[in-house]
Amino acid sequence: MNYNLKSIEAIMPPPHFHMVGDGFRVHNFFPSQPGIGLTGMSPFFLLDYGSKWLVPPSNTPRGVGVHPHRGFETVTIAYHGKVAHHDSAGNSGVIGEGDVQWMTAGAGVLHKEYHEKEFSKKGGIFQMAQIWVNLPAKYKMTPVKYQAIENKDMTKVPLDDKESVIEIIAGVYDGKKGPAFTFSPVSLFNAKLISGAKACFTFKKSFNTGMLVIEGEIKVNNSKIAPENNFILFGHNEEDVVLEASENSVVLILSGEPINEPIASSGPFVMNTEAEIKQAYEDYNNGKFGYLAD
Ligand code: MN
Repeated sequence: MNYNLKSIEAIMPPPHFHMVGDGFRVHNFFPSQPGIGLTGMSPFFLLDYGSKWLVPPSNTPRGVGVHPHRGFETVTIAYHGKVAHHDSAGNSGVIGEGDVQWMTAGAGVLHKEYHEKEFSKKGGIFQMAQIWVNLPAKYKMTPVKYQAIENKDMTKVPLDDKESVIEIIAGVYDGKKGPAFTFSPVSLFNAKLISGAKACFTFKKSFNTGMLVIEGEIKVNNSKIAPENNFILFGHNEEDVVLEASENSVVLILSGEPINEPIASSGPFVMNTEAEIKQAYEDYNNGKFGYLAD
């Protein structure tokens, strides 16, 4: 096979972690990292990655209390441990190991996110990722909506070695489509590769493409090594990426069509103008996001 390989713009080690509430110990790859910023991975606006963390047992689940969102979607992927959530529209649920919650905050919601009770009592290894997918201006005020995507719902494409598998959450791989509904073209996959496995991916030149090594070690485009917890940022010169697993590995793959619209963001809101940000705070302060008990 002849591949037209995308350039590797950067292999980024995890930035120093910060805590979101007392439950989420995350490395922010974007928008905080120079080289990506607000638009470098658009339509993905934020990637908070919780690398493996041994959470001590606690009778009070750790997490983050009631807060609002407007103007985008939160996609939470639990790799180890379980996340519970409640919102102001009366929705609640648990994101189990290997599962994904795709929440369209849209016009606005209040929610809280915690370690699930039983997990919290026992403690254990916790590893997760939360991605904020921006919404095109015309969908920013769409009603709140949830897609609970359990691991069994994902489209699974086995590779030739029969043990490696590409799990499709959103988008298309090898002609097969994932379950998530998206408001703009987005691909989100987990590549679960056994040692020595090779996998090829093709994404349009104009799309922004990045990959996060969740587990193991990956040789990228037959040249560079990406260790565990590193993020690989690709350029726009070509379409193909080739991964080869140096050991049993898991890679989170993101690609999407950039939303070429202005961004105004503040805290939990991602809008197009400062006036819309001001409105979001006003609506929040006036109780228009509803009510949720602490
Ligand atoms: Mn949140």
